[in-house]
Amino acid sequence: MTTPLERSTTWPYEDGEPGAFTYARFSSPTVAEAERRLGELDGGEALLFASGTAASTAIVLALLEPGQTVALAAGAYYGTGVMLDELARWGVRHVEFDQTGPPPNDVDLIWLEAPSNPFLTMPDFEAACAHPALVVCDATAATPLNVRPLDHGCDVVVHSATKYLAGHDDALVGAVVTRNTEIAARLREHRTRTGCVCAPDVAWLLLRGLQTLEVRLARQTASARAIVERLRDHPAVERVRYPGFGALLSFDVVDANAARRVETGTRLIANMTSLGGVRSRIEARSRWEGDRVSPGLLRLSVGLEDPDALWADLEQALARA
Ligand SMILES: *Cc1c(COP(=O)(O)O)cnc(C)c1O
Repeated sequence: MTTPLERSTTWPYEDGEPGAFTYARFSSPTVAEAERRLGELDGGEALLFASGTAASTAIVLALLEPGQTVALAAGAYYGTGVMLDELARWGVRHVEFDQTGPPPNDVDLIWLEAPSNPFLTMPDFEAACAHPALVVCDATAATPLNVRPLDHGCDVVVHSATKYLAGHDDALVGAVVTRNTEIAARLREHRTRTGCVCAPDVAWLLLRGLQTLEVRLARQTASARAIVERLRDHPAVERVRYPGFGALLSFDVVDANAARRVETGTRLIANMTSLGGVRSRIEARSRWEGDRVSPGLLRLSVGLEDPDALWADLEQALARA
């Protein structure tokens, strides 16, 4: 049986008193059920937000004050730096650091990404968690099946559940997971006060996606591994980045023109953004990230298609590089 989709935004009081659910901005049954399932996967209390970026923004606004500083992993998801630039107007500063080593002193929150998108580096959890600051880890590209940051000592995990967790490119949703009850209460209060909760329909799609997460990820990972091996031997490929698990990888061809020819030359693999869906997609990241990435960097998110057909498609596109 599937979890019912409950679209009500309000529920009657019970004997004149608010019951478990009162108004959907606070919480609602389908959202709460998706939070329960995701919380189990990550080993903490989960809260859903309107997007991964809304979840990240809530962490900063709810847990920091003007004048405080975030140490952001260099090469982390481009949008996280953009969000922090936006919040700089409100007095929250950020500096970048190499997450494979210790974070800088005198920061109030450390932002890791496991693995970073699109560089695929892993953080040094031990070094980050030895720091007195709060430690947040964006584990979107790993999913809780590969990395559970709370088990490594992080205070908060953030996910763009839009990606692998929902998995079908039809739900924009974010999540925060923590074992710290004060942080969970503060984030819940912030979410209710600012109204950035996710909608019940989206929570239902997330529940549906979670049911197949394990089999999707297993097949996507097996295909990604096979592609990584072949890319490493391909003469047009200068460098392959892959953390050893999961279905996200990036590789470099010689320059921006070659990258453009490859991304526009695939047929089965869509030329589009995002990651973690059942359909494979490739994109030159320099269109978004400028000089931060090498001009020939292509990010590939491997989907559920036949692995031989995926390689055949990539190979014919690489012949144009
Ligand atoms: C996509 C993504 C985000 C942002 O999530 P949205 O749901 O698009 O707001 C954050 N972190 C990583 C690693 C992502 O890939």
